[in-house]
Amino acid sequence: MTKPKYTSEERKLVMAENLKRNKERAKAKGYTQKSAARESAIEKGEKTYTGFTVCKHCGSCEKYVSTWGCAPCAIKSGLEKLNNEELMKPYRTKEKVSNKTYRYRSKKFSEALILTPEEHQRILFIYKECAIITEKTGVLHHVDHIYPISKGGLHHPDNLQILTATENIRKGNKLL
Ligand SMILES: [Zn+2]
Repeated sequence: MTKPKYTSEERKLVMAENLKRNKERAKAKGYTQKSAARESAIEKGEKTYTGFTVCKHCGSCEKYVSTWGCAPCAIKSGLEKLNNEELMKPYRTKEKVSNKTYRYRSKKFSEALILTPEEHQRILFIYKECAIITEKTGVLHHVDHIYPISKGGLHHPDNLQILTATENIRKGNKLL
């Protein structure tokens, strides 16, 4: 263990000094309002905030809290990537996914029941609907298996529902 550079009292003083200096610097550059909007979005638990600079690509002021970047542009490029088969190829081969994902997928697709063309269409429709909702709301949505695959649930349209990504992650492999 290396000896800490400052005692905790000294550290507090240095941090306060740094904070003050950073605030002054931001104020000199006119950043106070920009970060105020972002901080209030963080407090409200929102993912985006209205920034003061206009995006030169799409003309929007909506920024992501996490990256400070333009939200509509990020959604657009994300969807473009998803629709580009060449770019998504590495993610679709079994060699490139983790063991856990590979087991999940083989369970989902190979042990699944044989679907009628009509059921297959319904599944595709649900996934499309999910992408459209994501695009329209700007909130990431997932297609969730109501009765989880890992608990023997089936990859069947009746067992699918659209959830926001946050809800889906919170749900995990539980049955709500
Ligand atoms: Zn933009």
